[in-house]
Amino acid sequence: MTMPDLPAYAERSLPAEHGGRPIRWSEWGEAPKLSHACDWCGDPGPCVMAGGRQGNPLAKDDPLRWFVAYRCSSCQETRVYQQTGAADLKPIAHFKPESPKGGRT
Ligand SMILES: [Zn+2]
Repeated sequence: MTMPDLPAYAERSLPAEHGGRPIRWSEWGEAPKLSHACDWCGDPGPCVMAGGRQGNPLAKDDPLRWFVAYRCSSCQETRVYQQTGAADLKPIAHFKPESPKGGRT
């Protein structure tokens, strides 16, 4: 039995900077915990995530900041957050997918 080909959507590139300072991103990897199904396409996941960092711990005027990005591996919906506390995430970017909403059933 063969599966029908799912349409492939292009990955979005992550923001290269925030607040005028560059962000360095890790490679994409599978998210460690099972995420809920994708809000956009309904893909059950798990999604993929990447970590980002900016700043220089040795420079007083360039504080460290941490970022995290989550991407649906099916429709490529991508959300980017700045970590503002131990468990607080502030959304800084949201890339809507090119696929039709609810396209995966
Ligand atoms: Zn999706």
